[in-house]
Amino acid sequence: MANDIFKDKFRDAGVDTRLAHVGNDPRAFHGFIHPPVVHASTVLFPDAATMATRNQKYQYGTHGTPTTDALTTALDALEGSAGTVLTPSGLVAVTLPLLAFLSSGDHVLITDSVYHPTRRFADTVLSRMGVEVEYYDPLAGAGIAGLMRPDTKVVFTESPASNTFEIQDIPAIARAAHARGAVVMMDNTWATPLYFRPLDHGVDISIHALTKYPAGHSDVLLGSVSANERCWEQLAATNQALGNCAAPDDSYQVLRGLRTMGVRLERHQRSALEIARWLEGQAGVARVLHPALESFPGHALWKRDFAGASGIFSVVLAGGGREQAHAFLDALSIFGLGYSWGGYESLAVHVNLEDRTVGAGAYEGPVMRLQIGIEDAADLKADLEAALAAAARA
Ligand SMILES: *Cc1c(COP(=O)(O)O)cnc(C)c1O
Repeated sequence: MANDIFKDKFRDAGVDTRLAHVGNDPRAFHGFIHPPVVHASTVLFPDAATMATRNQKYQYGTHGTPTTDALTTALDALEGSAGTVLTPSGLVAVTLPLLAFLSSGDHVLITDSVYHPTRRFADTVLSRMGVEVEYYDPLAGAGIAGLMRPDTKVVFTESPASNTFEIQDIPAIARAAHARGAVVMMDNTWATPLYFRPLDHGVDISIHALTKYPAGHSDVLLGSVSANERCWEQLAATNQALGNCAAPDDSYQVLRGLRTMGVRLERHQRSALEIARWLEGQAGVARVLHPALESFPGHALWKRDFAGASGIFSVVLAGGGREQAHAFLDALSIFGLGYSWGGYESLAVHVNLEDRTVGAGAYEGPVMRLQIGIEDAADLKADLEAALAAAARA
């Protein structure tokens, strides 16, 4: 397993060194820097005995190839996980582990501020399967112990919260969940493994929409699920049973994206924080929901647990409704109007918080989510200035 030896080689190196080199060994493929993009269903065996015992590293395309292995090895190195599976989208990276660890009659606790399609899956598929779904306050922290029941099998977290960016006390939640034997999952897409390593904070399963910063160019859909030793076997078995697998070209693109993710994130982080601070002083802004701002209620927790902040946050307009939100969006010329995030370009969206059942805060006006791209921050500020003026006029 050349890959495994290679993974260990950079264990003590800095994170950008690891991003540049983890995953594959160029010497294992004629010295080419990148791993080959292997398109495969069938893998041939040399003889009948090997075929009967399946005694070779690769057996069939759905079970992994040198291309997908390079990416999962890199992700294991970054997450500190025992194993990683790839999924065709970030949403499948959420649904797969829930399917792997929940059965009919089980109870699952899901943060109320979860990514909306996660809630839709829980309310439709999980409910139909006979799983009892309960949403909890994202700020519950150790208090989640009071919601744990003997049949609670999974506690699902996402921090910061989708769209409103509350920071969860992940170590406290993990301790309470483990005391009752539940598996703790975390959607870690916002921070990437560079700015938060869930398994180091007690989480069992770390989930990523690789579609976002790892891919980095708004042109690939992919997800990953990384598990600790305790959960890896069950996750991998369910993955195989479902026939889930990831496409070779997409896996290759994401590995390529990882190589530059560190420097891209530095820029996203710097510009986003600069713009968030600037927005705090602008007329027409009630507040800015960004965990790295000292004014943000979850700032201390963020500072305790996270190594950085990515480029997405929200700004709350000072009053108004849908009309003002639309005027704001329509006045933007650099920011695109679109879902998803993590690419090099800036995006804006009017956030819908109507699905919240416990954690819906009272906001002064429309909540506008901004993904700050790597364009020049001065140009982005000018664009936002025009948008705020348009919202004020509406
Ligand atoms: C985008 C996103 C997903 C889903 O990723 P897709 O690849 O778009 O399916 C899951 N969780 C979070 C937090 C996301 O932002």
